[in-house]
Amino acid sequence: MRTGILGGTFDPPHLGHLVLAAAARHTLELDRVLFIPAGDPWRKAGRRVTPAEDRLDMTRALVEGVEWAVVSDIEVRREGPSYTTETLEQLARDGGDWWFILGADALADLPHWSHPERIISAVRLAVARRPDETDGVITPALQAALPGIEARVDLVPMPRLDISSSDLRERVRDGRPTQFLLQDAVRAVIDRRGIYFDGDEDPGAPPL
Ligand code: ATP
Ligand code: MG
Repeated sequence: MRTGILGGTFDPPHLGHLVLAAAARHTLELDRVLFIPAGDPWRKAGRRVTPAEDRLDMTRALVEGVEWAVVSDIEVRREGPSYTTETLEQLARDGGDWWFILGADALADLPHWSHPERIISAVRLAVARRPDETDGVITPALQAALPGIEARVDLVPMPRLDISSSDLRERVRDGRPTQFLLQDAVRAVIDRRGIYFDGDEDPGAPPL
């Protein structure tokens, strides 16, 4: 079994996440992709994060009807900060081939995660590469921080989609369109529960 894992805050989950997962599935011939919302995303400290149950339900709505996608609540159920290292080691222990899927922005942040060296020893990394990116995904800084990382990365070609959860939260708050950026089922959860309408963003916190 070949499994990709897409971890994220998913606040909210959007088209970029789906396209990233589909690209990784195609390139690496994955049997399935697990979407794993972080319970307590400690790297996003500095802004208010939507309750985990809401992010879990939005992620379920995102993958409705996508037969190769599975949502896991493994991090939402675990107490304390969500450490990707723990999740990946726990899952990979069961055997099979595992990839952690991530965008280039998350790869650059990887050295600041908890025990990143254990992440790249437990699983391979599937990293989105944009068509106009000839080099620069694995930077010298990344190699210095995590020696040997280049041998653990598979690059996944993916079109550049300038879509982010941060922008979508502002769109909902400001009443600008989210159609096609958010799945209709995700937007329905947002509307029903009134998520993002009051806009309590911390403008000082840079998006991760
Ligand atoms: P935020 O704006 O709050 O940072 P986000 O849109 O980046 O949110 P995350 O939940 O932080 O979403 O991202 C989870 C994973 O999806 C990360 O590995 C991130 O790099 C990747 N990702 C998110 N948006 C895109 C996109 N448009 N294209 C490629 N990868 C993406
Ligand atoms: Mg991000």
